[in-house]
Amino acid sequence: MRDPLTSRLAGFGTTIFARMSALAAETGAINLGQGFPDTDGPPEVLDAAVNAIRSGQNQYPPGLGIADLRHAVAEHQLRFHGLEFDPDTEVLITAGATEALAGALLGTLETGDEVIVFEPMFDSYAACIALAGASVVPVTLQPTPDGYRYDPAQLRAAVGPRTRTILLNTPHNPTGKVFTAEEMDDIADVARTHDLMVITDEVYEHLLFDGRRHVPMASLPGMAERTLTISSGGKTFHTTGWKVGWMCGPAPIVRAAMSAKQFLTYVNGAPFQPAMAVGLRLGDEYFTSLAAGLQHTRDLLADGLRTAGFVVYPSEATYFTTVDITPLRADGDGMAFCEELPHRCGVVAVPNQVFYVDPARGRHLVRFACCKRPEVITKAMERLAVLAA
Ligand SMILES: *Cc1c(COP(=O)(O)O)cnc(C)c1O
Repeated sequence: MRDPLTSRLAGFGTTIFARMSALAAETGAINLGQGFPDTDGPPEVLDAAVNAIRSGQNQYPPGLGIADLRHAVAEHQLRFHGLEFDPDTEVLITAGATEALAGALLGTLETGDEVIVFEPMFDSYAACIALAGASVVPVTLQPTPDGYRYDPAQLRAAVGPRTRTILLNTPHNPTGKVFTAEEMDDIADVARTHDLMVITDEVYEHLLFDGRRHVPMASLPGMAERTLTISSGGKTFHTTGWKVGWMCGPAPIVRAAMSAKQFLTYVNGAPFQPAMAVGLRLGDEYFTSLAAGLQHTRDLLADGLRTAGFVVYPSEATYFTTVDITPLRADGDGMAFCEELPHRCGVVAVPNQVFYVDPARGRHLVRFACCKRPEVITKAMERLAVLAA
């Protein structure tokens, strides 16, 4: 028998999140690696799921997702972002943002196409692009005193005759970066000039700090017609295990993504869909206090990381803060550092090198998550303080 693994996935290995969470379980370390909250979401949302199960919403939902959730997504896009979508043709419910991304990439790319992606990047992007027979052309975000920045010349140089799509994640995992208004205009300019599609991953759209606001790519001039906007409820409602996500965009793009999505899961999460609709319709207070709570744990995390001796790159949004480990480990080997950390001080983090096309570019960078209760972050930071000694 030949190697059972398809050559398209050769080299991808096991996702770093599964590996590092297993290490946390094995060693009993505090897991600041994988980004999942350690508290439950709003009780109204949890109750709605329980009620849906008890009232018999347990069979296959419609292929597009239940109408109530599609309407709630459209209302949410209008309320928070001023974007209008037809819930019957321009909104599709998916098994998390992960499946929305997979459906969008598999449903729109041809073999040999190129996709421009800002690296470091969420690890499913490169795998799905490879499964589609296409390839990633990275544009690198470099840490600077003003946050992570890309070189506009590198973005322009990345565009070639086979470029089909720009895949943009803002707010950005793992850097905690919010793309600036100038950067968004610049990316939109490249997309319009070269007639490219833009797929955006906006799962952290409600988790911005210090008064920042999320501006979706689809709201920029000339972009609604070429942008597919993807998000999910996992991060916003502390329900990462529910895997309810969605995409919004022009009907032809949504239909193309649907063509692939229908053969992945077909549908998912029947009782969680009405619950997510309840979440999306919660008052502004919920969304504001969510971001405020996370901003507090981000501050605890950043202070602790600085005390431990890392170079800390400020996080503007998301669950994550990245650090340069070289002051604590001269060889800058982030993978070895993360493998040793649970044994040395009972904390798990994620090496950023796995988020780069060429791991060497992110070898010295490590990511910590702040989406845990304040007392858990404080305890983890006390443990990390031994590194400074
Ligand atoms: C968590 C995350 C996802 C996955 O979202 P799900 O809804 O759990 O599938 C996608 N993109 C980014 C950037 C993420 O951090």
